[in-house]
Amino acid sequence: MTELETFTDEVRTFFSEKLTPDLQKAGHLEAGIYAEKDVAVPWIQILDAQGWAAPGWPVQWGGTGWSAEQHLIWQREYTLAMAPSLPPNGLRMVAPAIMHYGTDEQKNFYLPRIRQGLDWWAQGYSEPGSGSDLASLQCAAVRDGDSYVINGTKIWTTHAHYCNRMFCLVRTDSSGIKQQGITFLLFDMDLPGIEVKPIISMSGDHEFNQVFFNDVRAPVSGRLGDENDGWSVAKYLLTHERGGKSATALLMRVAHLRQFVEDQAADGLDLRYDNTFMGRIADLDIELMRYGAFENKVFETVAAGESVGAISSALKIRRTELRQQIDEVVLEAVHHYGLPYQPQIREYRNSDQPIGSFTAATAMPRYLNNRAATIYAGSNEIQRDILAKRELGL
Ligand SMILES: Cc1cc2nc3c(=O)[nH]c(=O)nc-3n(C[C@H](O)[C@H](O)[C@H](O)COP(=O)(O)OP(=O)(O)OC[C@H]3O[C@@H](n4cnc5c(N)ncnc54)[C@H](O)[C@@H]3O)c2cc1C
Repeated sequence: MTELETFTDEVRTFFSEKLTPDLQKAGHLEAGIYAEKDVAVPWIQILDAQGWAAPGWPVQWGGTGWSAEQHLIWQREYTLAMAPSLPPNGLRMVAPAIMHYGTDEQKNFYLPRIRQGLDWWAQGYSEPGSGSDLASLQCAAVRDGDSYVINGTKIWTTHAHYCNRMFCLVRTDSSGIKQQGITFLLFDMDLPGIEVKPIISMSGDHEFNQVFFNDVRAPVSGRLGDENDGWSVAKYLLTHERGGKSATALLMRVAHLRQFVEDQAADGLDLRYDNTFMGRIADLDIELMRYGAFENKVFETVAAGESVGAISSALKIRRTELRQQIDEVVLEAVHHYGLPYQPQIREYRNSDQPIGSFTAATAMPRYLNNRAATIYAGSNEIQRDILAKRELGL
């Protein structure tokens, strides 16, 4: 056995022993951006006990030090096992920003807590009127002794109702150009004066919120980076939000789809000889392999310590388009079984059987939820603008 084969065995054994049927069902039924907190917390703690909660982090902070090939095997097996996805806000977004900009005290306090699933982070960037034009944000913070006093609002704040911490962009100075005068703060969500109000999405899920700040006193010790230099921190974090590897996971979703088509054929909905349909699956495979090669090249550049400039925007565009195309083909595969509205089936503790299959029960919610993928983390139109300006000099 080669070393990589031994590693693959180790990962498979881990999933078969540690991923309980309940957690696996929850992973299978996910339709939103990531798993619910009551699923994600026990799962991240199982991963952390194995030392695998944050495989991509530097070893110093609990990363694995795996090779690029090991990371690919991990992603493939993770998706094949249908393990619940983990919220990126802590692990993949604010953690790299803390590693880069944080004081030793901030790093020592926050990073282990993120890895152990003790802290759940809300992203306080967008405001009503400040989404694509994020630098126009108005949520104000005024320094008063050891605190910033915050007044204003944030919107589209995913999972804020589950989160105990927020990373937040506030305006501390309005005198210069809009990118100046922004400060990046980390604070607790239970500070007096914070109110979280739900926004229900068209799939019926409660993922979004609007968060209101009324004379909230956030400690100055939670500032990441310098006062009025929060835009640099915000942009650094966004490259991590837009980057990340996902080709393997998407390829595995297509593999699941192929298996589903096989299984469904026995129930009378046989698409195996529908050339147009099967051609779409083959096209997805080819496009994903092409995207995977692009992704690998970008990550080799990052690993070599070179800057990839605005290429994370290109990854974001292509990744989200492909994800939406997969959803469309899955919806086609489940046919009329995609239509019944059966939200209770997606509750993993519910033992009811779905109309159709579990794949059918999640096809429409996934399709609807993933329409958002080309909007969040900066819309794809904005990513094209960034590429045009920074890469093409237009
Ligand atoms: C599922 C989801 C989760 C999110 N979670 C969070 C979160 O946790 N925290 C957070 O802070 N925000 C979050 N957001 C908000 C997200 O970042 C914004 O929706 C996004 O930046 C777009 O801003 P907007 O909604 O205000 O749209 P707008 O900026 O009003 O844009 C509307 C449309 O106009 C287009 N447009 C705008 N300006 C230009 C331009 N210059 N050139 C070309 N086209 C343009 C946009 O592409 C879009 O199609 C989330 C959004 C979604 C959908």
